[in-house]
Amino acid sequence: MKIGVPKELFEGEARVALTPDSAKQLQKLGYDCVIETGAGTLAGFADKDYKEAGVEVVKTAAALWKAAEIVAKVRQPNEAELKRLTKGKTLISFFNPAANDAGMEAAKAKGANVIAMEMVPRISRAQKMDALSSMANIAGYRAVIEASNNFGRFFTGQITAAGKVPPAKVLVVGAGVAGLAAIGTSTSLGAITYAFDVRPEVAEQVESMGAEFVYLDFEEEQADGAATGGYAAVSSPEFREAQLAKFLELAPEVDIVITTALIPNREAPELWTAEMVAAMKPGSVIVDLAAEKGGNCKLTVMDEKIVTENGVTIVGYTDFPSRMASQASTLYSTNIRHMLTDLTPDKDGQINHNMEDDVIRGATVTFEGEITFPPPPPKIK
Ligand code: NAD
Repeated sequence: MKIGVPKELFEGEARVALTPDSAKQLQKLGYDCVIETGAGTLAGFADKDYKEAGVEVVKTAAALWKAAEIVAKVRQPNEAELKRLTKGKTLISFFNPAANDAGMEAAKAKGANVIAMEMVPRISRAQKMDALSSMANIAGYRAVIEASNNFGRFFTGQITAAGKVPPAKVLVVGAGVAGLAAIGTSTSLGAITYAFDVRPEVAEQVESMGAEFVYLDFEEEQADGAATGGYAAVSSPEFREAQLAKFLELAPEVDIVITTALIPNREAPELWTAEMVAAMKPGSVIVDLAAEKGGNCKLTVMDEKIVTENGVTIVGYTDFPSRMASQASTLYSTNIRHMLTDLTPDKDGQINHNMEDDVIRGATVTFEGEITFPPPPPKIK
């Protein structure tokens, strides 16, 4: 079978779903690979790199979709791409099934099978395919780099002949995958780093990375904020009040705030108020990784960078992985390769779409003319 990778159509998207190295691995599974010309250019992979890796390069998206039985993409397909699906074709991509009924209906009508990368169950066996985590890791790292780029000072403290420089103080709100990556980056740049999460079980991880966990006065309530499955639940009003009071106290102290707090299937909780922004020092920076879900900071403008009257920069970009397109493509295409490895147990270049497999079943949102989303909960942890 042929695996095809088109150029991404989403404006500004620089990632590609297949690197030349991954293409070589997929050929070992018995597949042929084909890309649309220029698909990897913005991520730093030229057509000639693909050709050297044994990949066929075709001139148009139409030729690509026609040639490939399996299509791998990064961004959710648009209407034109959905029209190119045909019976029995398999699409592996981010698909946003929870808010993409039209996409699932279109794939169902065509009889195409869709594997949504954000639906890969978060169980140990599937970590190598967990594209949400690989992209969140990049976003967390890049958020700190973006913050430092907008902060007119060092992160690390220095004593120089020209004077003493205090270290920057960074607060990371939400210590999930992106938050922990932000914490690691911040401490490695030498900043004094604080982190807060409603799930107190992450305190140990935060501290092991050299940051300080911010505790509230009533820890029992902090534990109540944790929900099953490792994700956060909505906090009680009393807990929220204590959290906001603590943040208001910290606002004049910290130079950088990185917010990453999310609750599954909801708008992001608003945790950094206008009053907190007003209390920050001029030159401070907020990077709001929750911008796409409404933002954790009241003043965040999605996809924009703004500077407030009191001189606080608020970054609401939603394309951090694409801003590190080479790295993001390498990790994403490894996730895709592992998914295809599980789909090809006989290494014979043929998909075995085993709906009895928890991981494959969990990620499949349309199969043989049916919508199979949402999946049943996984049986294995
Ligand atoms: P996420 O993106 O849903 O949320 C980010 C963080 O925000 C979470 O840590 C959450 O607790 C926190 N948060 C929510 N509301 C908050 C509030 N009001 N104040 C402060 N923080 C708040 O989460 P994620 O990064 O996708 O990871 C969530 C969990 O899943 C973690 O426990 C992670 O270890 C786990 N996980 C497991 C696997 C696996 O086993 N394969 C893979 C990835 C993640």
